[in-house]
Amino acid sequence: MLVPTEGPIGAKIFFVGEAPGEEEDRVGKPFRGRAGRTLDSLLLQAGIMRQECRVGNVAKERPLGNDISRFFEDKKKTIPKPQLVEWIEELRKEILTEKPNIVVALGDTALWALTGSHGIKARRGAICESRLVPGQKVLPTYHPQAVGYEWGLAFEVIMDLRKAVRHSETPDIPKDNRSLATEPSKDFWIEYCYRMAEAKCPIAIDIESTQPGSHITRIGLSHSADYAISIPFVKGRNAVHTLNNEVAIYEALGQLMTNCPLIFHNGAYDSSVIVKNHGLFSVKILFDTIIAAHVLFPESPRDLGFLASILLDVPAWKYAAKDDPGLYNAADVCNTFALYEVMDKLLDSKGVRKIFNHEMRQIPLVSMLGLQGLDVDLSYQKKFLDETNKSLNEVVARLDAATGGGINYNSPDQIKSLLYVTNSLPIQFKRRKSKEEEQKVTTDIEALEKLSRATDSPIVKDLIEHRKYSKRLSSFADITVSPEGKVFTSYNITGKKDIEFVSEGSRISTKSFGRWSSSQSIIDPYGPGNLQNVPEIARVLYRTKPGYKFLSADYVQAEAVDVAYLCHDTVLMKMFEESFGMSASERKKAHDVHKYTASIMYEIPMEDVTPEQRRIGKTIRHACNYNAGPMVVAARVGVMLNQAKRLRDMYYAKNPLLLAWYQRIQNKLRQDRTLTNPFGRIHKFTERWGDELFRSAYAYEPQSTVGDLMNKSLTDIYEKYGDELIISLQLHDAGYFLVEESKIDYWIPLIREAMLFPLEVGMSTATIDVDFKVGPSWGEMEELDISWK
Ligand code: URA
Repeated sequence: MLVPTEGPIGAKIFFVGEAPGEEEDRVGKPFRGRAGRTLDSLLLQAGIMRQECRVGNVAKERPLGNDISRFFEDKKKTIPKPQLVEWIEELRKEILTEKPNIVVALGDTALWALTGSHGIKARRGAICESRLVPGQKVLPTYHPQAVGYEWGLAFEVIMDLRKAVRHSETPDIPKDNRSLATEPSKDFWIEYCYRMAEAKCPIAIDIESTQPGSHITRIGLSHSADYAISIPFVKGRNAVHTLNNEVAIYEALGQLMTNCPLIFHNGAYDSSVIVKNHGLFSVKILFDTIIAAHVLFPESPRDLGFLASILLDVPAWKYAAKDDPGLYNAADVCNTFALYEVMDKLLDSKGVRKIFNHEMRQIPLVSMLGLQGLDVDLSYQKKFLDETNKSLNEVVARLDAATGGGINYNSPDQIKSLLYVTNSLPIQFKRRKSKEEEQKVTTDIEALEKLSRATDSPIVKDLIEHRKYSKRLSSFADITVSPEGKVFTSYNITGKKDIEFVSEGSRISTKSFGRWSSSQSIIDPYGPGNLQNVPEIARVLYRTKPGYKFLSADYVQAEAVDVAYLCHDTVLMKMFEESFGMSASERKKAHDVHKYTASIMYEIPMEDVTPEQRRIGKTIRHACNYNAGPMVVAARVGVMLNQAKRLRDMYYAKNPLLLAWYQRIQNKLRQDRTLTNPFGRIHKFTERWGDELFRSAYAYEPQSTVGDLMNKSLTDIYEKYGDELIISLQLHDAGYFLVEESKIDYWIPLIREAMLFPLEVGMSTATIDVDFKVGPSWGEMEELDISWK
């Protein structure tokens, strides 16, 4: 059925969708089905009355199978079929005669029809001019259907819709008055740098680099939201400047970097690249927009394009990366300055200045750790590689004997056939996000472990071993090491990498609760990348130089202590208080929390708890403190689902205070969806109401508190002792140091003192204790059983 545009003629806002769906086709009106309901909800949250707007589509009829590409001649959807050409012409006439102040393009098809460009991710949130109706103001945003699939996109769409409201008062398209100098002469650049150095004013700085290796190709500078200068160093494969001129350019930059407070977007990376390439230090880093974004909008993307789209009124520019690198770099740095001005005020108005300062202080430490690297003992690496290969070959031989051979054990299809056809084992399906998602057969590790528990099949057990050794080989043994025998990692203060888009509407959302993540170094891409998940066995490669030892300091049962105080569990609080200062062995004897957990769960005296019951108690406490589901408990404890359910029930029955704490968190979420930790880190939870939301909210305070505590301690230590003490690694609740053997006893009390910090948790003050370990390699650490009593 033909679905015409609806809404009052003369409306200020005109929404354009893609094409009618099933429900719209049935009733003959646009946006009535699921996407329509999502649109209604988004409009409500943005304060827009749908009845006051025009709402229509690019295509006026439903395409077969809801597949819009049926209206195009080509796969890239750039050549419309005659029918679509007619509908677009109709839309053009409607807009031309009705003259809305703003047209909102909902999704990529509407963006293309109105502007001639595809790429909704790069262009959403930026006001632009229509090519279909020249002079007409357009604002692209995601299609409501995309929000339906991925609720995390709602924040961006609501921000875009609010922008549409602000722009609906006039038809004027904002003028871009910025001056972006993209090909300055060497003298012009030098003059600019010296003038700024003299003025000592805040300067935004942004580098573009080749990757990996990070050779600088351009540098951009900006001292105001209206001006930026970007100088190229490399074009294609050629140097732009003579050697002498390049030296003069960097000398001038050095003057600026010494005298001006600097503003970065990801300062830990950019400042490291500049030091590494040219030895120029960022003396004072005033502001980092990525850190400001992390504390202001922890659940949103943190890239410049996104931040500019929600906080500034500038044209989109990210699409220019390839074709106009000068514009790209100049706009990047100009927008970094403009964002600094806006975000600096927001930090105060939103009450997150303190946590911002806390994260800013970590930049020098993170940069140092990224550039310093970790030494690898090559003979150990060879040994580890040989052993891993040997173990892998043994598993393959066993599997070949059991299956008759000829199978590629890395091929999912061949494993599916082996397990589900040849051996008729129960078919396992991938976990789905919703019931509407298609069921997919899987042989992932979770499925193999489930099969192993259910069937005890030796083939499945060996397949699990095969996965383990293959992963160990490729990720941890067969690694490339730098010419000087090191591996490197980049720690990210703002946690996991920015939210990744797989395709429109489908992205991997990652929550970062103030904990660093670590990832492959872009500057020195040697080693396994993420050093925070190297398994124990692979840590033996990382050894100290002669005369030195690894010393680790880790917070004792940090999250469990925090949860006990949050729940006001006075029995546990007393146990933790009394064991403060005890050595690990004294603590285990006097106050073994895991034994205690097992004893209350099984209703038996502490002395009767078996090692297996203690293991279950420990695992259950870790999992159930954040209300892990029965499937997770089953996998962690290694039992069947019904047993896991029973264990969970037993744990909760004996921990009513935990349930009361859950209730308090849910009440707080109901009020304003916002939780704050003792460091002043505020997190607004935006996902859909339900168990997933609750779980991440329960984990928030303990995880973020321990993350913030560790990072505060390491930063304090770096600021105080950085010239004498080598900080080597950060592993969430543990810090690692390289210490001269003769000075171990000297450093331990100093490190402990720097790490003990009273936290205001719940209604009391808790101080989390620290244990020390020492060893010749990262993988051979032994407990130092020190008593401080
Ligand atoms: N999707 C659209 O793009 N338009 C509608 O009307 C309904 C769903």
